[in-house]
Amino acid sequence: MDIKANLEQIKKSFPNPACQLIAVSKTKPLADLQDAYGVGIRDFGENKVQEIQAKQPEMPADTRWHMIGHLQSNKVKYIAPFIHLIHGVDSFKLLLEIDRQGKKIDRAIPVLLQIHIATEESKFGFDQEELEAMLSSPEFVSMTHVQVKGLMGMATFTANLEQIRSEFRGLKQLFEELKNRTLPSFVNLKELSMGMSGDYQIAQDEGSTMVRIGSAIFGSRNYPSP
Ligand SMILES: *Cc1c(COP(=O)(O)O)cnc(C)c1O
Repeated sequence: MDIKANLEQIKKSFPNPACQLIAVSKTKPLADLQDAYGVGIRDFGENKVQEIQAKQPEMPADTRWHMIGHLQSNKVKYIAPFIHLIHGVDSFKLLLEIDRQGKKIDRAIPVLLQIHIATEESKFGFDQEELEAMLSSPEFVSMTHVQVKGLMGMATFTANLEQIRSEFRGLKQLFEELKNRTLPSFVNLKELSMGMSGDYQIAQDEGSTMVRIGSAIFGSRNYPSP
């Protein structure tokens, strides 16, 4: 894999050059991360706590770690001190646990709320009803150690590009709607994390500010990673 060439190619193909690239390095060896770091990448996405814990001490201190997968509440404590952004906050319970762990170490932990936009049941995220219930709950308003920086979503795995586009468009609409609402001061919606190797151009067309790209940079993964 020519990681450098792949990165150049991808950057050139961005409809929005200002969109931030998260290099998704899950399952990939440290040498691959170091190659990407060597050509300027600082933001890496992983989806397993154990894997982040193993890689983090081996990479330079200015590496920014993004937790992009489903996160179990009982594992928040392991990444709370250093995680740059948790993209996959998919339940109120998880958010409350992040707040609790943040309090312990006096760090307001940056997160995105994952919204369920796909037709597949298997994908994680809040549906509209769960989101509204959380936003109007007194427990939500009283959190002190989270920073909600935006939304994240994953489109349906399909060849139907119009479906993907319309799912991203729906997420962008929700993002704009929430921005216009009065919400607690720890909610500051700036980031819209949507788009992967197969759909990042569509996502950027629809307003994504962050894309999470793995296989197009590092090659296909040897084993599936949920
Ligand atoms: C694996 C993964 C990605 C990257 O997928 P690619 O298709 O390899 O670019 C992006 N987002 C999430 C949440 C992932 O789990």
